[in-house]
Amino acid sequence: MAEDYDYDLFTIGAGSGGVRASRVAAAHGAKVAIAEEFRVGGTCVIRGCVPKKMLVYGAHFAEDLKDAQNFGWSTQNATFDWITLRDNVLKDVDRLEGAYTDTLENHDVTIFHERAEITGAHEITLAGGKVVTAKYILVATGARPQIPDVEGAEHAITSNDAFHLDKIPEKIIIAGGGYIANEFAGIFNEFGSKVCLVNRGDQLLRSYDEALRERLLLISMKKGIDFKFDTVFEYIRKTDDGRFKVKLSTCDEEVVDQVMFATGRKPNTEGLGLEKVGVELGEKGEIKVDRFSKTTVDHIYAVGDVTDRVQLTPVAIREGQAFADSVFGGHDPVAVDHSCIPSAVFSHPPIAAVGMTEGEAKNKLGSVKVYQSDFRPMKNVLAGRDERSLFKMICDGDSGKIVGIHMIAPDAAEMMQAAAIAVKAGLTKADFDATTAIHPTMAEELVLMR
Ligand code: NDP
Repeated sequence: MAEDYDYDLFTIGAGSGGVRASRVAAAHGAKVAIAEEFRVGGTCVIRGCVPKKMLVYGAHFAEDLKDAQNFGWSTQNATFDWITLRDNVLKDVDRLEGAYTDTLENHDVTIFHERAEITGAHEITLAGGKVVTAKYILVATGARPQIPDVEGAEHAITSNDAFHLDKIPEKIIIAGGGYIANEFAGIFNEFGSKVCLVNRGDQLLRSYDEALRERLLLISMKKGIDFKFDTVFEYIRKTDDGRFKVKLSTCDEEVVDQVMFATGRKPNTEGLGLEKVGVELGEKGEIKVDRFSKTTVDHIYAVGDVTDRVQLTPVAIREGQAFADSVFGGHDPVAVDHSCIPSAVFSHPPIAAVGMTEGEAKNKLGSVKVYQSDFRPMKNVLAGRDERSLFKMICDGDSGKIVGIHMIAPDAAEMMQAAAIAVKAGLTKADFDATTAIHPTMAEELVLMR
């Protein structure tokens, strides 16, 4: 290939989807270049899933140290140093960026550390002025925090900034009721901040099962997180001492150290020259693609958050892999199956789910059987922690096939990955019941639900 072009593939954006697509295309023999204007690794590695999970681990020690006392440990004088954790996390992010760069280089992918714009059907212009051509173009530019139009919104941070703070805020207001808001509410609360989560509607984590959402709300409130529902921001104003006066629609003005917006993410499609070459965008600015990730232009593809299908790293990676195999792998096009995707919210405790919620199943299937286990994990009992876990299994009432599993429990995400295989494979409640429990574990509840 690449006889008439400089490259077979030019990828814009070196995040999870772009890196996977580029290195797999190169392994299939394509001549590949990739452009990244920020850091190789993208949101997940640089300022998303990976450093966030490290903060979740760091934060959870606050509870572990307290719980350890009933197990005989003296931990009363334990102290926490944010700068140590922050800098260790940032150091590991540097290491991972290096690993991602090595992967690309080891596959002979040329990396341009600058912004790229599509300036012709097969032409890409780099910020430095260099013009290159490619037979195929892949847009994998991800998404960025979407910030509502509020007076003083420029004073607020987003999850991007949370990894770089000089100190943990004494008081923080977090806007939003989704993944990021709940995860960071948990993190800051464990680090000792007074956290208030402000949601425009009356529901947190809308896509999750109601019983789990209610359980998380209850536990979070018990841990000291304050929640304001049906509330919007009127203004954020800076004070002379560098703090912020915040006026919410349902409360009096108050002064806080930090305001964070976690109100969804917006596809990065501006300034890429997409419309000029005929790539159609949707209402939120997302790139419209078919099931093979092809845009409205035959040789331009898009994967990951920029397409706003399912904004999750493993999905972007699968889309990148499927694109590279389809276009450069020499076999029939591969479409990614976007059904039955397991997911988790790394709150304290985490929530994990796969398949339909009870409400969705009732609407869709009519006849539904619900099994559940509402229990206090053994470790919590001895620790004196009054925190109950909840597992739910939703089955088709006629066939017994499991259509959804939902958990809120310590390590729920770890258990869910295995359970999701069974749901994806179409197993039934009887198949779970036929499996012997591993005792004593929390996971045994999966095969003991009534
Ligand atoms: P979410 O879509 O999870 O939640 C957005 C929240 O912001 C909702 O509560 C929504 O309210 C609210 N909101 C949206 N627009 C406004 C507005 N204009 N004013 C006030 N509130 C608003 O988005 P996040 O930002 O938390 O995360 C972005 C995406 O990143 C997630 O959807 C997820 O796919 C991914 N992610 C995944 C994680 C994981 O896998 N653990 C962790 C972090 C992020 P309403 O419900 O009313 O719409």
